[in-house]
Amino acid sequence: MNTSAGAATKAPAEVGADVAIIGGGLAGAAAACAFARRGISTVLFEPRAQSDGLLSCSADSTTPRLMAGRRAKCCGHCLHGRVRASLAALELTDCVDRIAHGRTTRARIERRGVPALEFELADPGFVVRRDELDPALLDEARRRGVVIIAQSARWSPRENLVRSDSVECRPKLVVGADGLSSRVARDAGLVEHGRQGRRFGLAFDFEADAELADALVEEGTIRMIVADGGYLGLVRERHAVHAGLLLDAKVSARDALARIGTEHREIGAIPQSILHQALACASGAGPIPFRTTSAWSDGLALIGDAAGYVEPFTGEGMTWAFESAALLDAAVAASTSLDAVPARYGALRSEALAWTTRRCRAIAWVVARPRLVTAALRFAQCAPSISRRILQGVVR
Ligand SMILES: Cc1cc2nc3c(=O)[nH]c(=O)nc-3n(C[C@H](O)[C@H](O)[C@H](O)COP(=O)(O)OP(=O)(O)OC[C@H]3O[C@@H](n4cnc5c(N)ncnc54)[C@H](O)[C@@H]3O)c2cc1C
Repeated sequence: MNTSAGAATKAPAEVGADVAIIGGGLAGAAAACAFARRGISTVLFEPRAQSDGLLSCSADSTTPRLMAGRRAKCCGHCLHGRVRASLAALELTDCVDRIAHGRTTRARIERRGVPALEFELADPGFVVRRDELDPALLDEARRRGVVIIAQSARWSPRENLVRSDSVECRPKLVVGADGLSSRVARDAGLVEHGRQGRRFGLAFDFEADAELADALVEEGTIRMIVADGGYLGLVRERHAVHAGLLLDAKVSARDALARIGTEHREIGAIPQSILHQALACASGAGPIPFRTTSAWSDGLALIGDAAGYVEPFTGEGMTWAFESAALLDAAVAASTSLDAVPARYGALRSEALAWTTRRCRAIAWVVARPRLVTAALRFAQCAPSISRRILQGVVR
C-alpha cells in the first residue's frame, strides 16, 4: 500500500480494520500495541511516522544530538515510576527500559526569596527522550502487525469514516489519540467550550559543559523553578539539559527566561547563543489545560492528552497516556464486542483517574499563583517532614 503523502490526488484506498487510531504519540502507539496483541486488526494514522521504519534516533544514542534539528515533542522527558504497572500490562516495559537515559530520584521546588524544598520521589522515575520513545513504540506496534499510515486523518462521526489523503476506513471503534486540543474530541462534540486554559508549553534541550550542567541541575533531580508568569523545569541527561517551560499567554519565553535568569544566577549564566539556538529548535503546545466533557461516546474512545490534560508540573502526561491505553485494553478484555468498549472504558477511566485528575487540578491551581507557592515553601521550612510527606503523596 502506498502511504506517502504524494498519493493525494488518487481516490483513497479502503483499509479494512476493526480499530482506527488517530494519532501515534505514546497513547496511540501503546493502544495500537495492545489491540494487535489481542489479534484485533488495527490501523494507526500518524503524520510524523515514516512509512519505511522509524525515525531519527542515531545508532549511537550515547551521544545526544539534541541540537541537531527541531525537537520532536513538547515534553520535559520525565516519566513517572508509577508507569511501570501500565507498561507491564501492555507488555511494553522492555521498550521503555531500552531507551531510558537514567532515573529521577529527587525533586526540588524553588521560588525566588524562599529556601528551596527538596525531597525524594516516592517512586523513582525515568529520563526518556521523545525522539526515541515515540518511534520505539511505533516500531513495536508495526512489529505486532499494526498498519501504520504516515498521514494525518480526520474522523467523520456521522458516516463513521476515518479518512487520510490516500486511505479511508470504516472501523468498529475509533480511538482519538491526537493530543492536546484533539480534533477528534472536537468533532465528537466532547470539548468543554469556554473552559480551555490560557497557558502554553515550550520545551527545548541544550548541551552544556559539565560545570554549567552541574550548576543547573544534578543528574537524577527534577528541578522546578516557579516564577511570575510561569515556571521552568529542568532535568539532566549526562551533559544535556532538558527544559520545559509553562507560560501564561502573552509572556514570551525569552522574557520569562531573562526574568528567571535574574532571580537564579546559574540560569542567567547560560550563554545567550545556546539559549537562542535551543529556543529556535523548541517545540510548543497549548493551550493548557485542555478539558473534555467525557472521554468516550458511541464508537469512540479518547486516550492520552486527547481525553484532557491538566498541567506539566506534576509530570503526569506520559503516565496518563500509558495508563489510558492500559485502561482501554482492560475495557477490551472485559467486553464481549468492540461496541461495548467505549462505555466500559469510560467507567474504568473515571474510577482509576478521577482522584489523580483532581489532585493535578489542585496543584495547577496553586502553581498558577506564585504567592501561594511562596507561602507553601515557607510553611515547608517550618514543618519540613510533614511537607515532604505531603509532596511525596502529591508529586507521585
Ligand atoms: C512544557 C511541557 C512539558 C511536559 N513535560 C512532561 C514530563 O516531563 N513528563 C510527562 O509525563 N509529561 C510531560 N508533558 C506532557 C506530555 O508531553 C503529554 O502528556 C504526552 O505527550 C501525551 O501523549 P499523547 O500520546 O496523548 O499525545 P502526543 O504525544 O501529543 O501525540 C499525539 C499525536 O497525534 C498526532 N496527530 C495529531 N493530529 C493528528 C491527526 N489529525 N491525524 C493523525 N495524527 C495526528 C501528532 O502528530 C502526535 O504525534 C509535558 C507537556 C508540556 C506542554
